[in-house]
Amino acid sequence: MKFGGMLSDLLRSLFKRPVTEQYPFVKRKPPERLRGELQYDPTNCSGCMLCMKDCPADALELIVIDRKAKKFVMRYHADRCTYCAQCVSSCRFKCLSMSNEQYELAALTKEPFTVHYGNESDIRAILEAVSPAGAEPADKA
Ligand code: SF4
Ligand code: SF4
Repeated sequence: MKFGGMLSDLLRSLFKRPVTEQYPFVKRKPPERLRGELQYDPTNCSGCMLCMKDCPADALELIVIDRKAKKFVMRYHADRCTYCAQCVSSCRFKCLSMSNEQYELAALTKEPFTVHYGNESDIRAILEAVSPAGAEPADKA
């Protein structure tokens, strides 16, 4: 390209709107079907464990607190998850979904990638039994 051409491109670009986005200061509305963090709603969970069995990444653990009372805690390993949504399709009771709002999952430590869903006191009891003192993996009731 000749110098004159380059100069005219340069001048034209000076007055154009930037094509880059000002993320994270300006955020676009995420697509409806974006596959972000997995969500678990225990209300209709039968404890069938199909989600666990069908997960290709071994990212789910269903911990049975009381099968008769249908009390479960779901441990989700977001760092193993491939966001394939197989578990969502496998669950006949629509207990699982993928958030299109929680997708900014980067973290500096491993702890936030182990997420517990279920009753708060059940989660606390599980964590106390398995975690060294002071360790506090993320939990979600
Ligand atoms: S597949 Fe659904 S009903 Fe079965 S254990 Fe998983 S979340 Fe619960
Ligand atoms: S989205 Fe895929 S990888 Fe992630 S927990 Fe579900 S089945 Fe496993």
